[in-house]
Amino acid sequence: MEIKKGIGVSPGVVIGTAVVLDAEDTVIPKRQIAPDEVLGELTRFKNAIQSASTDLKLFRDRVDAEHGKEIGGIFDFHLGLLRDKSLLGGIENELRTQFVTAEYAVSTVMRRFAAAFLKIQDRYFSERVKDIYDVEKRLLRTHIGQRHEGLATLTTDVVVIAHDLLPSQTASLDRKHVKGFATDVGGRTSHTAIVARAMGIPAVVGLGDLTAHVSGGDTVVIDGGRGVVIVNPDPEQLAGYQEDARAFLRFESELAQLSSLPAETLDGHQVCLQANIEGPEDVYDAIERGAQGVGLYRTEYLYLKGNQEPTEEDHYQSYAEAVRRLSGRPLVIRTLDLGADKYTHAQLASPERNPFLGDRSIRMCLHDIPMFKRQLRAIMRATVLGDVRIMFPMISTMMELRQAQLVLKDVMEELEDEGVEFRREIPVGMMIEVPSAALMAPSFAKEVNFFSIGTNDLIQYTLAVDRTNEKVAGLYCPAHPAVLALIRDTIRAGARNHISVSVCGEMAGEPLYTLLLLGLGLHTFSMNGPDIPEVKKIIRSTTMEHAKSVARRVMSFDSERQVMHFLREETRKIIPEAF
Ligand code: PEP
Ligand code: MG
Repeated sequence: MEIKKGIGVSPGVVIGTAVVLDAEDTVIPKRQIAPDEVLGELTRFKNAIQSASTDLKLFRDRVDAEHGKEIGGIFDFHLGLLRDKSLLGGIENELRTQFVTAEYAVSTVMRRFAAAFLKIQDRYFSERVKDIYDVEKRLLRTHIGQRHEGLATLTTDVVVIAHDLLPSQTASLDRKHVKGFATDVGGRTSHTAIVARAMGIPAVVGLGDLTAHVSGGDTVVIDGGRGVVIVNPDPEQLAGYQEDARAFLRFESELAQLSSLPAETLDGHQVCLQANIEGPEDVYDAIERGAQGVGLYRTEYLYLKGNQEPTEEDHYQSYAEAVRRLSGRPLVIRTLDLGADKYTHAQLASPERNPFLGDRSIRMCLHDIPMFKRQLRAIMRATVLGDVRIMFPMISTMMELRQAQLVLKDVMEELEDEGVEFRREIPVGMMIEVPSAALMAPSFAKEVNFFSIGTNDLIQYTLAVDRTNEKVAGLYCPAHPAVLALIRDTIRAGARNHISVSVCGEMAGEPLYTLLLLGLGLHTFSMNGPDIPEVKKIIRSTTMEHAKSVARRVMSFDSERQVMHFLREETRKIIPEAF
């Protein structure tokens, strides 16, 4: 049994059979073989060792010749692994006694080998782990057939264990069969984590070396609330977690009963709860959970889920479908926010040094006007179908906002010339997710119809903490007084200029911050669908007066610890079972 602590990013408990993604993100399925197939599999394995050794020697000699013996010598360790008696014997033994395929035996035993190396508290050994993976990959990829499967071909329920998952991979997971996932790297508001929450599947990230400790077929518990993963739990622990899983489902179904009730405080103050979506397919689920509209449509997933750049028609069809499904409820379409951790295939080929500070989001759109216009044309065409609003992300200067507005105006003129129908008076808003925009909120408020505060980025840019990096996850905190001051001032600037302000970052869906945001004067919250019921429960259990007094107190603190401690106490007073 192995217990690993990471960052819980999507609540719930799931117990399942692991599939481990190899270095190239394909699954090595556990496949039993008949006793009379063992010899054939052993031959496949031995042939693979032979040809891998021959290839590696040639490769080593070439590196020796080109870069000197010191560099070439690195591959002597790889060759040594292919001759290592305990490793080879272990694989053979797995194959003979467990009746599994050659690739499964190789993957399982090499991962055990890597785990043993990791246990030795010595840098030399821990650094060799990557070499072990490298050899595993070489054997599996090149020399043992191609019996790999993608996650798309799953036929049974599993939990996915991976070093990392791209947001696009996460969004493409088969919701029917993938019941949870856990990764070595990642932070709480990485897009991978956000997608997991939106899908409502338990997930833990930032587990360090989890993949070295799990083999396909292991039983794994993922506790997304506590951020814990247990590999092959003992019977007592298993029973405890089975009860936790049942309790979580009970809690969810209790909350589901709130979905048709209004989000209204005890003293009659109305709040608007909206959903964040990645595509039209998320709309029905969001409405079922009580969403009064969509406050953030992350349109970049149209790019990330496919292999080609979407056409204007692809954009239009998605927006039209979302509007139709919303039946008159508002839809805030955010223009493309590609880049940073949501990179396209082209960006993958030439990565930036600091992608979060680089050519992302509105910057990228303003560098590629034809692409930007394709999207804007589709949005404008969809305006005649319902309540469509448009929002620009990552605005950091007034010039950027004006340029984006100019392109939009151009698009309107083009459509008019072509005789295409659209609604000219659509609300145009911007995200406040860069400190410069928050500090200039009073000026920006005069230029747009609404603000939406993107706390995920606002926190990372204010505190200089990469939102996807598990090593600095402890510093990433919405409760930091500097972040709270920017949020307060943005809400104020919106109120003074009579424009609406919402929060659409993950903070909006965290029950810990509901009282505070309400007390700061926030009327619109946009969050992942599964978060709506709990936030609504808090709103329905408090008064505006109480929320305001909580906010006043919080704004007098100078440390995030104090803030969090106080908010936890106050929230528990009204909902004892919270957190
Ligand atoms: C944010 O930054 O808070 C936000 C909502 O945008 P995203 O998470 O897509 O960067
Ligand atoms: Mg953002």
